[in-house]
Amino acid sequence: MVDIKSLRREELINFITEKGEKKYRADQLFSWMHKNLAESMDEMSNIPKSLKELIDKEAEFITLKSVDCQVSAQDGTRKYLFALPDENLIESVCMEYREWNSICISSQAGCNMGCRFCASTLGGCKRSLTASEMLEQIYRVQRDSEKRISNVVIMGSGEPLDNYDNLLRFLDILTDEKGFNMGERHITVSTCGLVPEIKRLAGEKRAITLAVSLHAPNDEVRKQLMPVAEKYPMAELMDAVRYYYDCTGRRITFEYALSKGINDDPSQAEELSKLLKGMNCHVNLIPVNPVKERKIAGSSPSVTAAFKSKLEKNGINVTIRREMGRDIDGACGQLRRKHLEAGLHV
Ligand code: SAH
Repeated sequence: MVDIKSLRREELINFITEKGEKKYRADQLFSWMHKNLAESMDEMSNIPKSLKELIDKEAEFITLKSVDCQVSAQDGTRKYLFALPDENLIESVCMEYREWNSICISSQAGCNMGCRFCASTLGGCKRSLTASEMLEQIYRVQRDSEKRISNVVIMGSGEPLDNYDNLLRFLDILTDEKGFNMGERHITVSTCGLVPEIKRLAGEKRAITLAVSLHAPNDEVRKQLMPVAEKYPMAELMDAVRYYYDCTGRRITFEYALSKGINDDPSQAEELSKLLKGMNCHVNLIPVNPVKERKIAGSSPSVTAAFKSKLEKNGINVTIRREMGRDIDGACGQLRRKHLEAGLHV
């Protein structure tokens, strides 16, 4: 079965015209799906019944079902739990800013990367998401929101570069001017550091921000936190990141989750400064959000502030990431995990 919401516009035109339909029908369908964010084909008032029946028979129209939504009393952050068509669960987080919203979406149901502080990876990766399932997280949340979603970060559960082809398809459709029309500059892809895929993405020459989950100033510490560091040494990762910058001109973001007693010493801030010196980059610090299955604790506010000022003194751009939605299981994979543990059936 063809998943029509995962087809690029040109592919949809081919699919529709091969069925003997006119090209403008494909344009109408694309617009219903990706601009009007239709929840079902019933909404598509100018599409003839015969074409709807044909699509019903030969294609799938994927939508996500919202199973739970928690709203933070602190900052209005909304965390959605969605059921995929096969009943796997994923989560998406919508953060409110003054004039716009930003959404963090998942790229896989679970994750295989095994980072030691992360809840998403505890049950492994059930499967990668299709382009339509990534788009649907944005579309359903947009329909539920008053403000326009103007930023997308692929920083929820899963490793997006471990789902490369679907990610690219998702990016093509999301940025299509006849669809949701999101600007590439408003999209961030976050990776734990898969070197070959970072280089491949660089070669696509898109104006997408790359966020790299670094979390350590050297290989030894990184290996304690992230199994991926065994596969790709820091030197190779840094080369790939520099190549990404050379190809795209986009400033790199480094994520650094401060873990008490592991990577938060002032000497490690010095070492990190040396590593990043001269790079056009930005460091996002966040104290690890403790996950009950994990022994790793977050650094205290004073240690976090000291780490930040050390980087600043060394001329590194740095912010402490606002911890949004901490009262609603805000950390990666926590809400999904809670539901899985409770044996929730959808
Ligand atoms: N796999 C991708 C994207 C998903 S994780 C990646 O690794 O970048 C999104 C970000 O949240 C990563 O920087 C990840 O390291 C971080 N993260 C995961 N669990 C966390 C926790 N408990 N506390 C703080 N940051 C966490």
